[in-house]
Amino acid sequence: MEKECIFCNIVHGKTDTEFLFETDEVVVFKDIHPHAPVHLLIVPRRHIRSINDLTDDDRHVVAELLMTGREMARRQKVAESGYKLLFNVEHGGGQRVFHLHLHLLAGKDW
Ligand code: AMP
Ligand code: ZN
Repeated sequence: MEKECIFCNIVHGKTDTEFLFETDEVVVFKDIHPHAPVHLLIVPRRHIRSINDLTDDDRHVVAELLMTGREMARRQKVAESGYKLLFNVEHGGGQRVFHLHLHLLAGKDW
């Protein structure tokens, strides 16, 4: 755990953030500044800085993030209407929290 990392603090229960869903590998919570009616973050428990820092041994983490994103879309009842799954990567890609996370966005006309 990285002490200064907000998502590490959330994952380790050091904030009052509510988890909508969790597995051994990932947790899901609402984005604090939503960009759409549905805006969830799917976050690995282990601190990984960004997509760039994934190794071959992390393939299961990537699969778990995507499959959890798909499952949350189903639970939020937006699977059929459609949704975005988005990774921002490093500063130029709009990443501001440097603990890997997958955005699930839905419920508005893009
Ligand atoms: P990114 O720009 O991809 O790094 O996205 C980081 C996201 O985390 C932003 O959409 C923020 O609104 C969100 N965020 C930052 N702090 C928190 C927090 N404490 N709880 C929930 N979401 C957060
Ligand atoms: Zn972290």
